[in-house]
Amino acid sequence: MSTTETPSSSNFIRSIISDDLASGRRQQVITRFPPEPNGYLHIGHAKSICLNFGLATEYGGRCHLRFDDTNPVKEEDEYVEAIKQDVAWLGFDWGEHLYFASDYFDQLYQWALKLIKKGKAYVDSQNAEEMRVNRGTLTQPGVDSPYRERSVEENLELFEKMKNGDFPDGSHILRAKIDMAAPNMNLRDPAMYRILHAAHHRTGEKWCIYPMYDFAHGQEDSIEGVTHSICTLEFEDHRPLYEWFLQELEIFAPQQIEFARLNLSYTVMSKRKLLQLVSEKHVAGWDDPRMPTISGMRRRGYPAAAIRSFCERIGVGRSANWIDLSVLEDCVREELNATAFRRQAVLKPLKVTISNYDQVELLEAPNHPQQPEAGNRELPMSRELWIDRDDFMENPPPPKKYFRLGPGREVRLRNSYIIKCDEFIKDEKGEIVELICSADLATLGKNPEGRKVKGIIHWVSAEHAVKVPVRVYDRLFDQENPDKAENYLAALNPESLQVTEALVEPSLLQAGPGETFQFERVGYFTVDAKDSQAGKPVFNRTVTLRDTWAKVK
Ligand code: ATP
Ligand code: MG
Repeated sequence: MSTTETPSSSNFIRSIISDDLASGRRQQVITRFPPEPNGYLHIGHAKSICLNFGLATEYGGRCHLRFDDTNPVKEEDEYVEAIKQDVAWLGFDWGEHLYFASDYFDQLYQWALKLIKKGKAYVDSQNAEEMRVNRGTLTQPGVDSPYRERSVEENLELFEKMKNGDFPDGSHILRAKIDMAAPNMNLRDPAMYRILHAAHHRTGEKWCIYPMYDFAHGQEDSIEGVTHSICTLEFEDHRPLYEWFLQELEIFAPQQIEFARLNLSYTVMSKRKLLQLVSEKHVAGWDDPRMPTISGMRRRGYPAAAIRSFCERIGVGRSANWIDLSVLEDCVREELNATAFRRQAVLKPLKVTISNYDQVELLEAPNHPQQPEAGNRELPMSRELWIDRDDFMENPPPPKKYFRLGPGREVRLRNSYIIKCDEFIKDEKGEIVELICSADLATLGKNPEGRKVKGIIHWVSAEHAVKVPVRVYDRLFDQENPDKAENYLAALNPESLQVTEALVEPSLLQAGPGETFQFERVGYFTVDAKDSQAGKPVFNRTVTLRDTWAKVK
């Protein structure tokens, strides 16, 4: 467990499971995470993953990874592989329990036959419009289909022909025979099977009828012996239908428990929208570091432990779960503050010449100020340096309020000497281009008595600095709830990516893909795992040191 992870807090699902075990209603805990492979996983999925795998671990049970691949049209192997990678990266292990809904197609077909034979399912041949009208509304009961009383034999024959590909898409469907007047619309003879002449990413051309999600999901859980089928609230109204199927089929019934899905400010999470961002190239791909996807966050440098601690922190409940993005960013900062090595890098360079210093020294600088065991790196110091432009003011506020450089003012160079600004040089446009400073050579690693130098600034040796590309990422959306905008694309933040360069200390050339550093006083930066080459790192800004958005608002 990492430093920022908090111990498990209580949630209502834990209480249900504990009660089930205590009362003997269940002997073990089997959960599952059931993504549809029609896109990459996002931070909302992480909540579900942490919950399902977390509970299984806590109760000594297991969690299955099951791909709910009942819709051949939108599903692809690329997504399957990406999802597996993301779940594993988050730190969870499904062991041998990797399943696909499509592996159950034969069983589901047999179960459909069983319901037909019991007189509990029928082939309907109304067109889509008739079916829509006859379904009724929330205030009006539906109307029975004229095909509802077909004989078992006729239904079996038609369903067989549907399976054999004798009919075009949409000409018939198989429906459960429940109650067209049920107040719960999901019970008004819901569709079980539809005709779809489409190849499936795993079963190929074998099927031209496919089970509806509602006919598949509960039975998939049942086949796998899932004890607690945890899902988001929108499936609460489907629960009676799932229970009806399980009861009519006389098979094991998992217990469904619903929780509120995660909503995150400044973020969209619908897969349809994320797909649009990718396909219309508003971002550079599913793993663009600005995306709310797990792969995007990984590439940006969010540690898996930070995402886990975020999921723990936000808790699990049944009322709408709106979380501010800053909560996630704080989890990232906390984790990285504890784990990231410190380095010096200058993004807005201003030249400094130390007039009384004309040598090269290799100073020892700690990798982590609170962790001596993390060791030191060598930091070259020389006569000419780069500091950050923002660390000098020609007319600074009084010394009590402003600790950085100004004419005649002193600061400490991080891991090096105290310097004093003796002079500054302007170009013909009046811009400050260089500071002439003197160093107090007695101050390396110590503060002479009585000397009060509050300011510490970062720097790099001009002779030794290396220039590296830096992508300064910010929030992808600049509106709190992009979904509320008329068109969420209008809420895209035009400044979500700024490409620039940094002058960094030479030790950073050895940084490996995915490694994250704190550029002292600047922020956390991660070596992009895709675009970097050996000795040529490209840095992504992972997160700022402080929340800058709270102030803006
Ligand atoms: P879509 O955006 O297409 O409706 P989905 O987000 O429901 O899809 P699935 O692949 O069906 O995508 O999701 C897998 C699991 O993740 C489901 O059990 C779902 O409840 C859960 N999940 C999805 N989004 C969230 C969210 N925002 N918060 C918590 N859990 C979520
Ligand atoms: Mg879904």
